[in-house]
Amino acid sequence: MKPDNPPFTLRRGAGPLIVSMPHAGTLVPPELAARLTPAAAILADTDWHLPQVYDFLDDFDATVLVATHSRLVVDLNRPPDGASLYPGQSVTGLVPVDTFRNEPVYAGQPPDADEVAARRRDWWQPYHDALAREIERLKAMHARVTLWDAHSIASVLPRFFEGRLPDLNFGTADAAACDAALIDAVLAPVQAQREYGWVLNGRFKGGYITRRYGAPARGVHAVQLEMTQAIYMDERPPFALQPDRCERLRPLLRACVGAMHAWASAA
Ligand SMILES: [Zn+2]
Repeated sequence: MKPDNPPFTLRRGAGPLIVSMPHAGTLVPPELAARLTPAAAILADTDWHLPQVYDFLDDFDATVLVATHSRLVVDLNRPPDGASLYPGQSVTGLVPVDTFRNEPVYAGQPPDADEVAARRRDWWQPYHDALAREIERLKAMHARVTLWDAHSIASVLPRFFEGRLPDLNFGTADAAACDAALIDAVLAPVQAQREYGWVLNGRFKGGYITRRYGAPARGVHAVQLEMTQAIYMDERPPFALQPDRCERLRPLLRACVGAMHAWASAA
């Protein structure tokens, strides 16, 4: 099982903003699809519809990297050694063997160490090579490069958190991944509204991508946004986008991403 093409789409922009969508992919190679349980095969843990939700990124001439394949192939926002992002808490791994609802992913044997290594080489590494290359390309053009890691998740998942998650969960690896002035700018539009609840560095503080690439001293500033899917889509199968909700949310999202772009451009 190997990708026929690079397992991502890349739009190269000239602006100082990169947007990464590591969990938006829904393709599953047929050899893998044949091994999945019915609960896994519906791909419920996808970060659904993010390219449509963020349909304004061309306006910022952003560089946009979107995974084409499901996180069930390999999770691009996990460390390559499979270390836990949140020690002591329930997490899914580099090659998930259970779903967010604690259902088994594989009807038979889960992947062994060799298969995990092959998926890391053939699917994980190309995404990270592309991301690192784009950051370096933009660093040569701008004093500040900003990285927005875009995610979404079901609003109620007892495995990971109690009750209902706040609508917008911003993560900066507890302030290690970006300059304080950047997150202040990103949060200003959020603080100016009352419709959507939000938190900074709550249950979700930024995954591997935010922690690995956010390096303020090197001029690279990363923010992760984990948002609940309820604010733009139906969380039940077939996981349809809700255009009214999405249109309501988009101006706020655009204001936050725009603030990031403006902050980076001001340097
Ligand atoms: Zn995600």
